[in-house]
Amino acid sequence: MKLLIVEDEQNLLNAISRYLKREGYLCEYAIDFPDAYKKIINHEYDCILLDLNLPKGDGMKLIRVLKEQESGAGIIVISARDTAADRVLGLNEGADDFLSKPFNLSELNARIKAVVRRKNGQISNVMHFGVLLIRLDERLVEANGVPLQLTKKEFDILVYLARNKNRVVTKDSIAEHLWGDYMDDTLSYDFIYAHVKNLRKKLADNGCEECLKTVYGIGYKFIAN
Ligand code: CA
Repeated sequence: MKLLIVEDEQNLLNAISRYLKREGYLCEYAIDFPDAYKKIINHEYDCILLDLNLPKGDGMKLIRVLKEQESGAGIIVISARDTAADRVLGLNEGADDFLSKPFNLSELNARIKAVVRRKNGQISNVMHFGVLLIRLDERLVEANGVPLQLTKKEFDILVYLARNKNRVVTKDSIAEHLWGDYMDDTLSYDFIYAHVKNLRKKLADNGCEECLKTVYGIGYKFIAN
């Protein structure tokens, strides 16, 4: 899952990103308004943690930008501006949640999961496709009742494809979603092939040979009936 953390307090930014990376998220950062604006325009995120008091601009405007471009990202405002008016304004502008500083990191994590789940129309932490079961909280996958030993990247790719079930997902968007800013343009997509190949083998070995399809030259498709 890919997050953008917009926060100008370096210590807080470090603490949040250290914690969330350990929890398995891919984290990108922006430390002022123009930086955040550029990232929001050019990239897609599952969830954006947004401080309102930013250098060179008001975070509230970024919520409007996200709404204008019909972004699918969840938005959680993290702000010291904890007046009722700000809270209402943020939520009216389209934020999904509001957390006032200081906050507990495990609570932030729980809110992120809840927001992303809501955005994806999921009511539970379990995705179920025939004999395949994906437990998002525990990062576990079972096929025919057998737990699969997936690497972090294999799990992330599977969840990303499953969330976009029955749609072709391009290699570009997998790279963008899983590697984000750290994806070097000069790299080939070989490592995506490698991850998907291993993932497919593990699925096939456990009776799910049909669920991942290659769309030649374009990407992959998760088949859910
Ligand atoms: Ca700030």
